[in-house]
Amino acid sequence: MPPNSLDTNTIYNLDKVGGVKLTRPSIYVAACMLRAAVKTLAHVEDLAKELQALAAECLSLRAAAESTRPPGWDSDAFCIHLERASNGFLPRGAHAHSRVQVCHVIKDFQRDIMKSSLQSRLYKVISAGTPNPWPNFLNGRLHTLLGSAPHTPLHFLTDQGFASNCRKRGISSMMMVIKSWANAWATSDRLHEDLRLPCILGCCDSGAKDCLSHYLTCSVFWALLNSACRSPASRWDVSSQSKICLADPLPFDYQRLVCAFLVYHALKLGHRKEVESAIKADDFDRIHSLFLELSRFHASEHVLCQVV
Ligand SMILES: [Zn+2]
Repeated sequence: MPPNSLDTNTIYNLDKVGGVKLTRPSIYVAACMLRAAVKTLAHVEDLAKELQALAAECLSLRAAAESTRPPGWDSDAFCIHLERASNGFLPRGAHAHSRVQVCHVIKDFQRDIMKSSLQSRLYKVISAGTPNPWPNFLNGRLHTLLGSAPHTPLHFLTDQGFASNCRKRGISSMMMVIKSWANAWATSDRLHEDLRLPCILGCCDSGAKDCLSHYLTCSVFWALLNSACRSPASRWDVSSQSKICLADPLPFDYQRLVCAFLVYHALKLGHRKEVESAIKADDFDRIHSLFLELSRFHASEHVLCQVV
């Protein structure tokens, strides 16, 4: 994937848009600490109280009033962290909005009515409390891809059931869609290659570059792709935002975008010499034939249903 395609928040929230699910270390550590405070170590509140009493006795009045942290220590004693965790206060990095849900899980555990693993329940509720970063992230990306703000709001990304519907399309397919949203096609422009290619289909647009923002509007690209995918008439003349599945997408739109992703990369990476020869000779007949051949192959694999 080209550098800077995704940021940390979107990487650890790929599952919210149907991508791979990655364990976030900061949340995992928070869940471990909560589990230790509630289940593994006993009487952390007593230990914390004892330390606070000793602090009042041994530290200067001013220092004891501010903290139980001995002078020179980088952080509070472990039992103080555990005591806070047992009351639902999460370590730095885990999301503070999850505290109420964390307290519910702890109460369920203490009432002995929990059937699943305490730590996995805690991880789930803290993860669920993390705001979905995708609408904001994609608003920014669409400025690059479309040259303007999205014409249709991206509310559907946070709809209930959106992620599970996406997962039904398969993680590998959704990762291709997500890479398209993130402007992460391996174009010579995006990879800052020494040799920056023009449109590899040789369209007549003056200054057409080998970049995704061009391919979303390239008439040759979409004429060939729509023909190979047998796109319904209603899906031929649609906006770039629709083509990239960010304007009330239909199942067919996702399949066509996956096909576009695969065909572009098969052509640019698998037939690079032929592409460069075509650009040099300004003769793209062979490239167009290859594009159609590849499109028909991938369409037969991925455009399984044309539910529109
Ligand atoms: Zn073009």
